[in-house]
Amino acid sequence: MAERSTQETFISSSEEEHETKQTKDGNASTHQTPNDRHQRQLEQERKLQERLKHIRYRLVVLSGKGGVGKSTVAVNLAVSLVLEGWKVGLLDADIHGPSIPTMLGLEATTGHVEGGELYPVEVQGLKVVSLGFLLRSQQDAVIWRGPLKAGILRQFLSDVAWGELDFLIVDSPPGTGDEPLSICQLLGKVDGAVIVTTPQKIAGIDVRKCVTFCRQLGVRVLGVIENMSGFVCGHCGKITPIFQTGGGLRIATDMNVPFLGSIPIDPKIVEACDTGEVFVTNYASSETAKKMHEIIAKIVSKVTGRPITKTNSPSPEEKKTMKIAIPLASGQLSPHFGHCEHFALVDVDPEKRSIIKREDVDAPPHQPGLLPPWLSQKKVDIIIAGGMGRRALGLFAEHGIQVVVGAKGGTPEEIVEDYLNGKLELGQNICDH
Ligand code: ADP
Repeated sequence: MAERSTQETFISSSEEEHETKQTKDGNASTHQTPNDRHQRQLEQERKLQERLKHIRYRLVVLSGKGGVGKSTVAVNLAVSLVLEGWKVGLLDADIHGPSIPTMLGLEATTGHVEGGELYPVEVQGLKVVSLGFLLRSQQDAVIWRGPLKAGILRQFLSDVAWGELDFLIVDSPPGTGDEPLSICQLLGKVDGAVIVTTPQKIAGIDVRKCVTFCRQLGVRVLGVIENMSGFVCGHCGKITPIFQTGGGLRIATDMNVPFLGSIPIDPKIVEACDTGEVFVTNYASSETAKKMHEIIAKIVSKVTGRPITKTNSPSPEEKKTMKIAIPLASGQLSPHFGHCEHFALVDVDPEKRSIIKREDVDAPPHQPGLLPPWLSQKKVDIIIAGGMGRRALGLFAEHGIQVVVGAKGGTPEEIVEDYLNGKLELGQNICDH
C-alpha cells in the first residue's frame, strides 16, 4: 500500500470516519441518515469546544487584502508574547498562501499526526500550525472543494493538540469573505481583532470592510495598524514618507476604532522574513522594532488589562476576574435587549470557570446609545444576549465590550456556567435590525 502523506492523513480523517461508519453498517451505498449527521455534528462541536476551553485569549489578525503585512504582524506579535512569558499558539489560517513557515524558517518542516491529532511545530517556545507543514512541497497549490476548506479550518482548531494556551493568534485569510467568517465563528469567543492596512487612501475601503465585518460579528476591534508607512533609510535610519501616510489614523478615527500605530517599510523586515528570523527579536534595537513593540504592548494591555512587562505571565495573585452582563425580564434572559428590566452582573473567575458573585441592577431609562457607556462604566467585559441590533453591536465593540448573541434562555447562573464551560447553545440573532 502506498505510503500516505501527512496532509492526506490529517485532512481526510473526518471524511474517513464518515465512510468507515457506512461500511460497518454494511450499507456503503446509502448516505448517512439525518440522525447520523446530527450526531456527527454534535460530536465535532463537542471536540471543538473541549479544545477551545483551554485557550484563554483568542486574537485574529485581519486585513482587507493580501500583501499588507498581516502575517508579519501575526508572527512578531506571537513571538513577543512568548518572550513575555505567555503560552502562545500561532495558527496560519491563510490556506491559499501559507507564509508563516517561511517567516519562521520552518519551510522544510512537516507536521506530525498521531491518533488523528496534528501536533504543532514548536519554535522558540511558540506552537505553530500551518497548512504549509502538511504540503509535500512549498510549491504545491491547494485546490479546495468548498466543504474541505471549511473542514480544514475547523480541524485546525479541533484536531490540533494545542494544549493549554494563554493566547492563540490567528493569521486570518485576507479579506472579509467566507474563510475569515468561518474562523471567527469557529473560535466562538474572539477577544479582539487587529486590522493591518497600508497608508494609501484606497486601503481605507478595506479597513471599513474589516471594521464592519467585526461589528457584525460582535468582535472587538483592538485597533488598526498602518504598515509600510514611510521608508527607513538603511544608512541613516531616517524615515521618509515616500507615499502619503496617515491613512490608517484617518480611517481609524473615522470609524471610531483605536489606532495602534504605524510601521515603516524597513528592508530588514523583508530580510528577516526571507531568512526565517523574527524581526522584533533579531533587530530588537532598531527604531522599527521599537515601534512594533509599542504597538504590541498596546494590544496586550487592551486584551489583558495589564501593561506588558518582562514577566507578564499571570501570577496567582494577579488573577483577573471578568464581569458578564445578562439582560433580564422576570428573572430570566430577556429577549429584547434594549427594553430589559434589569441586568444581572455576574463576576466570574475565567481560570476556574466559576461564578464569584451576582448583583442585579435596574436598567437605566430607555434612551438610544445610553447602554454602551453605562455598562462600560460598570466595568462589564461581556454581554450575553438573545439578540441585538447591528448598531448596538458596533457601539459595544467600540466600548471594548464583547457581545455574545443568540443565547436561548435560562437563569443568569445557567447561562454563565454554560458559557464558561463552552456549552452555551447559540441560535440566531433574533433582534437583527
Ligand atoms: P500578508 O500576510 O498581508 O499577505 P506579509 O506579512 O506576508 O503580508 O508581507 C508581505 C511581504 O511584505 C513580505 O515579504 C514581508 O517581508 C514584507 N513586509 C511586510 N511588512 C513590511 C515592512 N514594514 N517593511 C518591509 N517589508 C515588509
